[in-house]
Amino acid sequence: LTWDRETSTNVRSLVKSWIGMELEGAIAAEAAGLVETARRLVSDFPPAQVPQGALLGAWFDAGLTWVHFPEGLGGRGCSRQCQPIVDDVMLEAGGTLTRQVGTIGYGIAAPTLVAFGSRELTDRLLRPLAAGEETWCQLFSEPGAGSDLANVSASATLADGKWTVNGQKVWSSRAHEARWGVLLARTDPSLPKHQGLTYFVIDMHQPGVEIRPLRQMTGRAEFNEVFLTEAMVPDAQRLGAVGEGWRVARTTLLNERMAIGSRKSSAGAPSAMADALRLWSDRPERRTPVLRDRLAALWIRAQAHRLTCERFSAAAALGQEAVIAKLVSAELRQAAYEFSMDLLGPEASTYGTYDMAGSNQDGTELQEKFLRSRANTIEGGSSEIIRNIIGERILGLPAEHQPDRGKPWREGHRG
Ligand SMILES: Cc1cc2nc3c(=O)[nH]c(=O)nc-3n(C[C@H](O)[C@H](O)[C@H](O)COP(=O)(O)OP(=O)(O)OC[C@H]3O[C@@H](n4cnc5c(N)ncnc54)[C@H](O)[C@@H]3O)c2cc1C
Repeated sequence: LTWDRETSTNVRSLVKSWIGMELEGAIAAEAAGLVETARRLVSDFPPAQVPQGALLGAWFDAGLTWVHFPEGLGGRGCSRQCQPIVDDVMLEAGGTLTRQVGTIGYGIAAPTLVAFGSRELTDRLLRPLAAGEETWCQLFSEPGAGSDLANVSASATLADGKWTVNGQKVWSSRAHEARWGVLLARTDPSLPKHQGLTYFVIDMHQPGVEIRPLRQMTGRAEFNEVFLTEAMVPDAQRLGAVGEGWRVARTTLLNERMAIGSRKSSAGAPSAMADALRLWSDRPERRTPVLRDRLAALWIRAQAHRLTCERFSAAAALGQEAVIAKLVSAELRQAAYEFSMDLLGPEASTYGTYDMAGSNQDGTELQEKFLRSRANTIEGGSSEIIRNIIGERILGLPAEHQPDRGKPWREGHRG
């Protein structure tokens, strides 16, 4: 009952403490310096008065966009743990962060570019990405390559310093808005499937790229099919060596899982928990002891997720925590919205803005968030696949049987 009363009266502070973070020692000192720079910047570039791109560009130049990146590339070589503190300065000043403007560019493309791109390419692409001037999409999945991503069949062939790409991608989020895409393509079908892949940055604004929207059950068309027909990619836009695409893609996937699973992600568990707590506070007449038990159980799971996220933000390199956080975050988010629907009761079945012409902005209604949350256990690797990864790479269980292992891709090609 005490817990219940606290939840009712202190929802705001609970949500704040949930999102807040404690830092210690050297990292706290590092964060203090960054916060000072951030405060100066929002005072020199007041978010309400200057164009968003000008502030985000200055933020990049000051090394605040990805504080753990090297200097000159939007970072300062600081601990990843400082990022949420710096971000809060921007948000409190009423500004918008790069990760809110372009999640894929921020969380997926940028870390891969920094790890594998030439300095020339990174210099050309990173600042416009950070300033929100150029958005990105991810061209990995295909009709025959989702969970089995290494089965990609889109082909790329090299002639005169340029690659020609043909094939079909699917579920490409925000491709209709993107200026650039990260692309995984097969460059040697005679090699085993993981070895014949190469990774590219492709210009989405060219005649060989056709984008067709796909509508989700929320009514919105957030992702697309992308048809590549004789699309061109200069060799200078290759990330990593020819045939090393799988290694580069793994960096992307790890960062994607961290971006999705992180506590600050808008698609993450904390915002769903905050929604559930607000609803609990707003609708005392709908509370039951069973729902109270469920909310308490969700809260405990959410605390475990928070601690896992703190472990990965403290780690020098991303690792197993990012995979675990993605799994827990996706399932917790679904459970939190299921809870909210049960608390709403019959009202859950009324969905005011369901129109098939819906925009591409994230929904604000709980009912829509509930529908969208069904995708959380699919995007960025399904929960079944994440459990396989945890079983094999973390727990050391025997690997799944792979009948096509070591065979040339073209022999086992499932189309
Ligand atoms: C909202 C959303 C956004 C997305 N955005 C992008 C994007 O921007 N770019 C992009 O490239 N992709 C994107 N995806 C695609 C996503 O990565 C794939 O949907 C996902 O990897 C699953 O692949 P699939 O849909 O082909 O399902 P399949 O691979 O066909 O899987 C079907 C079912 O079988 C299960 N399964 C498959 N293999 C195994 C196995 N070995 N063991 C146990 N179970 C298994 C899966 O878990 C799943 O339940 C997006 C997906 C969603 C839902």
